[in-house]
Amino acid sequence: MTLLHEFGHHVDWRYDVVAYARSQGANGRALLSTGHAGATQGAGERIADCYMIYLLQVLAGQRYSHPADTAAYQGGAARMRFNLLLQSRAFEGMAGFRDWQSSA
Ligand SMILES: [Zn+2]
Repeated sequence: MTLLHEFGHHVDWRYDVVAYARSQGANGRALLSTGHAGATQGAGERIADCYMIYLLQVLAGQRYSHPADTAAYQGGAARMRFNLLLQSRAFEGMAGFRDWQSSA
């Protein structure tokens, strides 16, 4: 899990995904609300968690449970978050990722 989180930091530093999420209103705020409980706080930590959760849940097929909002990563709420993440510049030109729903 730690490695996946660190991977998220590198993506964020390269593509400034935090700025993108912050430009997306209520959906962006929902995306950034991951229930992150690490020692270091801030939007950078939460976007790194978003990648960790995406990789865990969509690519590895494991369930992530938000500590305060158990519905956050289920059904439409999860799809909204993952779709928003995949619309960031980090996934530009990577149709295979953006089309994840059609192949799921
Ligand atoms: Zn971190």
